[in-house]
Amino acid sequence: MFDKILIANRGEIACRIIRSAEAMGIATVAVFSEADAGAPHVRMAREALPVGPARAAESYLSIPRILEAVRASGAQAVHPGYGFLSENPDFARALAAEGVTFIGPPPAAIAAMGDKIASKRIAAAAGVNVVPGHPGVIADTAEGLRIAAGIGYPVMLKASAGGGGKGMRIARSEAELGEGLALARSEAEASFGDGRIFIEKYLEDPRHIEIQILADAHGNCIHLGERECSIQRRNQKVVEEAPSPFVDAAMRAAMGAQAVALARAVGYVSAGTVEFIADAAGGFHFLEMNTRLQVEHPVTELVTGVDLVEAMIRIAAGERLWLRQEDIRAEGWAIEARVYAEDPRRGFLPSTGRLTRYRPPAAVPGQVRLDSGVVEGSVIGTDYDPMIAKLCTAGATRAEAIARMGDALDGFEIEGIGHNLPFLAAVMDHPRFAAGDLSTGFIAGEWPGGFQGVKPDAPLRLRLAAAAALLQHRVEARAAQVSGRMAGAPPPSGGARVAVLPGESLALHIAVDAGGAEVTVGDQRLRVESDWQPGQRLARLVVGGVPLVLQVAPVAQGFRIRHRGADLVVRVRSPRQAELAALMPVKAAPDRSRLLVAPMPGQVVRLMAAEGDEVQEGQPLAVIEAMKMENVLRSPRAGRIGRILASPGGSVKADEVILEFA
Ligand code: ADP
Ligand code: ADP
Ligand code: MG
Repeated sequence: MFDKILIANRGEIACRIIRSAEAMGIATVAVFSEADAGAPHVRMAREALPVGPARAAESYLSIPRILEAVRASGAQAVHPGYGFLSENPDFARALAAEGVTFIGPPPAAIAAMGDKIASKRIAAAAGVNVVPGHPGVIADTAEGLRIAAGIGYPVMLKASAGGGGKGMRIARSEAELGEGLALARSEAEASFGDGRIFIEKYLEDPRHIEIQILADAHGNCIHLGERECSIQRRNQKVVEEAPSPFVDAAMRAAMGAQAVALARAVGYVSAGTVEFIADAAGGFHFLEMNTRLQVEHPVTELVTGVDLVEAMIRIAAGERLWLRQEDIRAEGWAIEARVYAEDPRRGFLPSTGRLTRYRPPAAVPGQVRLDSGVVEGSVIGTDYDPMIAKLCTAGATRAEAIARMGDALDGFEIEGIGHNLPFLAAVMDHPRFAAGDLSTGFIAGEWPGGFQGVKPDAPLRLRLAAAAALLQHRVEARAAQVSGRMAGAPPPSGGARVAVLPGESLALHIAVDAGGAEVTVGDQRLRVESDWQPGQRLARLVVGGVPLVLQVAPVAQGFRIRHRGADLVVRVRSPRQAELAALMPVKAAPDRSRLLVAPMPGQVVRLMAAEGDEVQEGQPLAVIEAMKMENVLRSPRAGRIGRILASPGGSVKADEVILEFA
């Protein structure tokens, strides 16, 4: 076994690998860029070495820089994590040349599977069902049209070198194919430095189901069952689970056998993932193989009890697999939610900034697992992946895992940055998700106009009003104890109140006692209990027998409450205050319909309209780069362009005006 390994990565996955290595008694070496000097992975590792500037190309992606750190540290092996150099065969070869072990597959297997065209050919030859299509480079539009006609529309144009959900485009007609091919090629060239495009059948609304495999260097290969990752936006996973509610034992065995056959065909060693898409009839088709540890590997660990990082290290050290296929048994259910720095209300666009508050829920062995690489005060910038953390829950059943996820998300506090916690909560509460009726079109299909937050239903609004009444009473009771304040505090036992929610006022009566209060709304009586004290940001209550975890921030006479994806202000007033408040003038929101504003901070790459141009609704007007992604801003209306305030190459803040309509 190794004495010392280096982790050529950052963030949550570096922390994750350090944890297993240290538990095995192996000393760990972290590397860090200038942006990560104080990062958690640096503090967790036994040693840490700087590898260059913030830009990944000059640090985490630089083979010479990482090799220097390997030499300086004397590490005998390197774990690459995911992303960065994990699927770079040259890196694995360079390590081998130095006599250092790459904790991953042989370079030839990485190279064979890293290219989507090559991997499809190998998979087909190994007897794997591949997505129908043409595993060859498309030379020109004429060839593209001929091949698409043979496959049948819709088709998908894919970059052979693509990854991370980038470099793919749907064509539903000959016209779309002609146009798409040129765009796909230039995008692939720009993103991957490799413009090769191939065409395959586009399956409508499939499920993404993948098989985890483990292979040793002695010819043993097993699979650890499947994960379903159908909840995606922009072809990128957001929620994953194991097992899949769709897969039965026969389908699992068939998919597992094909995944193992493919791994054997390329001489695979280490942990790897074979990705498939499945149709409603249960047919499954190979997409690609990821020759690394997958982001969503924890759900497999939670149901099988196998530590995949430990397995990769032991296999890299030459150990024989200690598990046989029949030893692998999935127990219970596990779900992973990826917490991203992105704004679900703005089409999931990335968000940047400092985590002014970061309080994840407590981990509970076997129930709640948190893989996180940030702390309060960390900055999420544009240099790296915008994933903040992975929250996993497990239970005996899928319903139990979902319920635990809902509770854990309610207790997860993040401030200072846009994040997708409300969206994740909405997915967990969605009846279609609960029914296991998933597909990769789930998000687009369920939120066709985009996610606009959750509106609590009537029973929940009632519970929130009752909860706010007790919390507001405690605030006022506390204020009444402070000397020198004007009178006017409520009697300590309660009385009549008006709870003001968005679009609704509820007349209620509150009778306070030692443990909580009795709240009456119309003919409903709700017992409210909580140990909450003013100043606390998390309120745990039981309202009418239902446990509620609320994030509360004080506002005048009430609270901003966040719960289950809902975000609303609830004020609690005396009847007289409510009467007077109704007379207050309402400040109108400024009219922004004549403006095109930047939805996130970034750099203006291109402006596609000039002053005086007549534009159509939906017409692209500007491209903003943020988090390495080009985001096209489309015209919100038809009209004539007035003043243009932004300029190409310049940077813009969120909500900064890019142009005005005449
Ligand atoms: P997973 O199924 O593990 O989520 P992804 O394909 O989403 O796999 O990629 C995982 C990580 O690797 C992400 O951080 C993603 O951005 C990165 N990644 C993978 N392939 C590429 C690529 N070709 N170019 C850029 N980033 C990539
Ligand atoms: P990446 O390397 O970016 O992960 P994949 O080939 O694994 O690319 O595809 C990512 C996602 O894109 C899939 O999970 C699926 O949602 C969608 N996708 C890819 N190919 C197809 C296809 N032929 N038909 C329908 N959806 C597809
Ligand atoms: Mg993939």
